[in-house]
Amino acid sequence: MTTLDDLPIRDDLRGLTPYGAPQLDVPVRLNTNENSYPVPEPVVEAIGKAVAAELRDLNRYPDRDAMALRADLAAYLGHGLTADHVWAANGSNEIQQQLLQAFGGPGRTALGFTPAYSMHPLLALGTGTRWVPGTRDADFGLTAADVVAQVRAHRPDVVFLCSPNNPTGTALDPAVVAAVLDEAPGMVVVDEAYAEFARAGTVSALAVLPGHPRLVVTRTMSKAFGFAGGRLGYLAADPAVVEAVQLVRLPYHLSALTQAAARAALAHRDALLGTVAAIKEQRDRIVATLRARGHRVADSDANFVLFAVDGDQGAAWRTLLDAGVLVRDVGLPGWLRVTAGTPAETDAFLTATEKLS
Ligand SMILES: *Cc1c(COP(=O)(O)O)cnc(C)c1O
Repeated sequence: MTTLDDLPIRDDLRGLTPYGAPQLDVPVRLNTNENSYPVPEPVVEAIGKAVAAELRDLNRYPDRDAMALRADLAAYLGHGLTADHVWAANGSNEIQQQLLQAFGGPGRTALGFTPAYSMHPLLALGTGTRWVPGTRDADFGLTAADVVAQVRAHRPDVVFLCSPNNPTGTALDPAVVAAVLDEAPGMVVVDEAYAEFARAGTVSALAVLPGHPRLVVTRTMSKAFGFAGGRLGYLAADPAVVEAVQLVRLPYHLSALTQAAARAALAHRDALLGTVAAIKEQRDRIVATLRARGHRVADSDANFVLFAVDGDQGAAWRTLLDAGVLVRDVGLPGWLRVTAGTPAETDAFLTATEKLS
């Protein structure tokens, strides 16, 4: 039998295993920050109709530039953005891959601040971009002075910021984004996958797009919109950035079905985003309950919570799994991450965590 090692695969991919959280069949799955609520029935019907209307024309390629969808996304974002400022792809992972294809690549470097989204270094690997793992303070915080020092030391072509940050949950102080924009010689990507869950008063980097053509804000419909299976991510930036990613995107990368489904979902955004308040309530309940029991817990602006456990987090993960609750071991010694789901899922999680102390 041929094994991977027998193939003339790139040296930098040799010996690696594919990335992915375990997809285990357990009653309570709180490990990938999905929205626990199913798509509401009226939205199911609207998406069904929109997709059905495309079927007869599937002999034709879709709109390569997804103009109608981009206009809808711009209208959702506000901030005076238009379709020219927005680009869409199959998830914000694909958006970030395109950004690295255009602005990273062989001979170039990307800097992120660990722990942050684990896909950023993997996208760097896949695009041949050298990854520089930057650091945070002991409480996972980032100060403007610290990030500026790291940017100055490495002169990266691309800086990844993540706000609210996955896996810690906390949004960035806008002063940090401003400081990086001032100091970075290259592109600055702010991954705002969880923006809709942020606590009141949190400022999006969208507000500073004017006058910053090297700033890119990435967003997704996978989390707040409950549309992870639909695969729709997008960016907002100067129109020149959109021109740049069009140089590397595959032609017709976004299927007619995806475009139609996403537009129908956006048209029903009030119904879809209607779950956000309930999810934030469960998130705040998890934070308060675990803190009251003496756990260290990171502040969360997202739909998940990072909490500390006594001893080995792998053993704690297994204890919770044995109680029917799947959370995420993100590889941070002594910490686990849990998604805020429905009230019933949160009950199950909080009951299971009583076994930890
Ligand atoms: C979940 C997540 C995404 C979403 O990726 P998609 O490809 O849009 O599903 C992006 N960034 C971060 C930090 C995430 O946690």
